[in-house]
Amino acid sequence: MRIVLLGAPGSGKGTQSQRLVERIGIPQISTGDLLRAAVAGRTELGLKAKEAMDAGRLVDDSLVLGMFRERLGEPDTRRGFILDGFPRNLAQAHALARLLETLKRPLDAVVQLDVDYAELVRRISGRRTCADCGRVFNLLTSPAAAQNGPCPKTGAPHRLMQRPDDNEATVAERLRVYDEKTRPLVDFYRARGLLRVINAEGAVNEVTRRLAQAIGAPLRAPPVRPKPTLKRVAGKRAVARKHPVTTARGKSAAARTTLRAPAKKSAVRRKGAKARAKRR
Ligand code: AMP
Repeated sequence: MRIVLLGAPGSGKGTQSQRLVERIGIPQISTGDLLRAAVAGRTELGLKAKEAMDAGRLVDDSLVLGMFRERLGEPDTRRGFILDGFPRNLAQAHALARLLETLKRPLDAVVQLDVDYAELVRRISGRRTCADCGRVFNLLTSPAAAQNGPCPKTGAPHRLMQRPDDNEATVAERLRVYDEKTRPLVDFYRARGLLRVINAEGAVNEVTRRLAQAIGAPLRAPPVRPKPTLKRVAGKRAVARKHPVTTARGKSAAARTTLRAPAKKSAVRRKGAKARAKRR
């Protein structure tokens, strides 16, 4: 399945993409994430992109298209992909159409996530991202337990950071750029019979359900992340024991490790002594 998520900053493209990745098992391609990684890695592309990103403008098409082509060439995209934040203007939409036509991998659907302007601003102000695993949270809506982790990359609590371009002035410019450059894609994809529009306000689970329905994807339950159950018995040398865990899809071969106290040596010795006495 090949889909594009279209929507203003804060409409939930990143959050919903991550949920689709878990539930339908195809990768997310977020040009924003790729660009942020390039900036963090101080690559040539990152250095060129940084100024536009900090100002809330679009990064040059030639840079974004080169980066996107490279990502699309990776083998995991053969099963399909969810495009998050790409295309962002008509030139990119035409370039994407040409590229996918050459590859004979046309889009299945483009979903516009519809969210009211005031709600977009509210969501962006509460948005935080884990600096290690990249998972997106919202201080206003994510449960505290989820925000506190553990992070699947480090095992420690998530390190929540605010994106530098989520400040008030940059957000206003990003919303203006969306209206001017990205909104015209709604008509572009409607004319090609690919557009679906969903109400992306309300509970996150409900939006995921509407999205899955719009793309006709059977949702599988998200993986159950077992709470750590490690138990150390005070004062005893603990040994590791592995046993299977149950996931939403039944018993899995995955094993988790619990710690239990070793059998008491003295008790074993006592049993042996009794048996010897009987024999005598
Ligand atoms: P996002 O994470 O999608 O909100 O993107 C963050 C920033 O990265 C945007 O404000 C742009 O500066 C840049 N960016 C992301 N995707 C694109 C794109 N397809 N074309 C141009 N610039 C982009």
